[in-house]
Amino acid sequence: MNKKANKKVPRRILVVEDEEDIVGLLTFHLEKEGYQVQSAFDGTVALQLAFNNPPDLVILDIMLPEVDGLEVCRRLRSNKLTAFVPVLMLSARKEELDKILGLELGADDYMVKPFGVRELIARVRAMFRRLEQKEEAANAEQGEETILQFGEIVLYPDRYQVTVKGELCGLTHIEFLLLQLLMLNSGKVLTRELLLDKVWDYEVEVDTRTVDVHIRYLRQKIEDDPANPVYIETVRGVGYRFARR
Ligand code: CA
Repeated sequence: MNKKANKKVPRRILVVEDEEDIVGLLTFHLEKEGYQVQSAFDGTVALQLAFNNPPDLVILDIMLPEVDGLEVCRRLRSNKLTAFVPVLMLSARKEELDKILGLELGADDYMVKPFGVRELIARVRAMFRRLEQKEEAANAEQGEETILQFGEIVLYPDRYQVTVKGELCGLTHIEFLLLQLLMLNSGKVLTRELLLDKVWDYEVEVDTRTVDVHIRYLRQKIEDDPANPVYIETVRGVGYRFARR
């Protein structure tokens, strides 16, 4: 059924509720779905467990002995370790919804008692799907940090920096964009028109010779001998090419 939950390390859910029947029921069904379940019968224990080893999701009843669910949620949100752990609130009163979902507490979802177990499982799955999407997006962002490297030139797209022989190279915005485009297409000839179109804002009137000027500056900064460039080659009458990797 829920292959995603079983595929990787099982997701851990903390169930916080003082009614033992409900805890038993939820534990049974969540474990059947492949989740790992921990439970706490009061708010104090819940917070200890959560801070000690942050769960992947918390199911939290409002009516609890000691510290109530609203306060537990508030404390989870204000601790760095648990600030982003999804919280599904259980409430006996619909009137509490605004408070639960509002900015004050920021729970991710809620269910009004009495609720069906199927419905709760569906909500939990949906919350994990959203969590996975967020995690995938975060991974994709990290993936973009792939650096471009050729010989002794290294370009860091995310940091907007270039190093030559390990030394930081002060490039202008245009020079950086030109170099990035050339490196991304290494081995291919890029025409002056294409470079102009990609690097310069086309509302601005620029001559194709402008490209030559910036390439000259760029060579002075990255080439050992700008008169005999190794990295950025001129393809006469056409444009420029970054040396093939
Ligand atoms: Ca309760």
